[in-house]
Amino acid sequence: MKWALIGASTIAAQYMVAAFRSLAEGGAIRVVSGSADRAARFAADHGIARSGTDLDEALSDPAVDAVYISSTNEKHFPQAMAAIAAGKHVLCEKPLAMRLEDAVAMVRAAEAAGLVFATNHHLRCAGSHRAIRGLIAAGRVGRVLSLRIHHAVHLPENLRGWRIASAEAGGGVVPDITVHDADLARFLLGEDPVSVVAQMGVSGMGQGVEDSAMSAWLMPSGAMVQAHESFTHPFAGTALEVHGTEGSVLARGVLTQRPLGEIELVTAAGRETVPFPDHDLYQQAVRQFADAVAGRGRPAATGWDGVKSLAVALAVREAARSGIRQQVSYGGAP
Ligand code: NDP
Repeated sequence: MKWALIGASTIAAQYMVAAFRSLAEGGAIRVVSGSADRAARFAADHGIARSGTDLDEALSDPAVDAVYISSTNEKHFPQAMAAIAAGKHVLCEKPLAMRLEDAVAMVRAAEAAGLVFATNHHLRCAGSHRAIRGLIAAGRVGRVLSLRIHHAVHLPENLRGWRIASAEAGGGVVPDITVHDADLARFLLGEDPVSVVAQMGVSGMGQGVEDSAMSAWLMPSGAMVQAHESFTHPFAGTALEVHGTEGSVLARGVLTQRPLGEIELVTAAGRETVPFPDHDLYQQAVRQFADAVAGRGRPAATGWDGVKSLAVALAVREAARSGIRQQVSYGGAP
């Protein structure tokens, strides 16, 4: 599968170029950027044949099967719609769009065109989270009572640009990290949050956008989810806890882009360490995407998964802004 990269981004450089190359005969053959120089440098650094600033030119290349969109968030919608109109499959970064209706429009357009559309939610591709999901599904914790997601990190220096200073580009910790946590909660529990309450604030990095958020979500089963996201916590580490009537899962260091962390299951029988596979998260996502294009299964996170994670994030932000509990509206997502 041959890819065009839309966006000469850090995530593309750090993870996705290698992930595309990990498949036999796979790889990126074009990169499109807002700057010809940046695109050329990115192409040279990563062994990509062609670069430029013209999206239409890249999309009209018949050698391109699919596009990977990792521009800043406000660009995802127009770029994805152009790619779909050109008949390309789309792997789009989260958040899918700035507005829920735009995200829904992207997913519906891809469906209408018969194209695969996926969201790059990496956490559900991790062996750790798949193992935790397996424990829950196998009844090892009994009925789930609560899920606590501690995802307060220290944003690396090189990412302290639009993320902390530009509302127009979709900055803020809620569109950046809460979307991932929303997807993870849905993946682990197999249900969609009904309502949310929240607080958000600025604690050292945000300039016009929030850099920290805490929220509580109610699930249809009655389970409650507590989520904490931040850019400003240098020593906190990450953690995830699932508490049920028959057991608890205590995981540390698993909210990460790499196959790291530890999982412990605690039940009446005692404590046990839970092993998990250590495959690359992004390669897993790309493999499942390619399989879906070949008619084998679905992407790891579909377009509708991206719509739903955005819906939860938007509800969290609105709850924090207004001080009023929000019912989550999924925009008609199935
Ligand atoms: P970057 O800031 O690295 O890249 C975003 C855009 O900023 C690029 O497309 C590029 O524009 C421009 N840019 C990047 N570096 C420079 C630079 N040095 N000078 C000038 N412009 C620059 O963002 P990220 O890679 O962190 O994020 C991109 C997208 O991916 C976002 O939507 C984000 O939410 C998502 N993301 C997802 C992750 C995941 O795990 N799923 C992890 C990290 C990010 P141009 O292309 O026009 O050159």
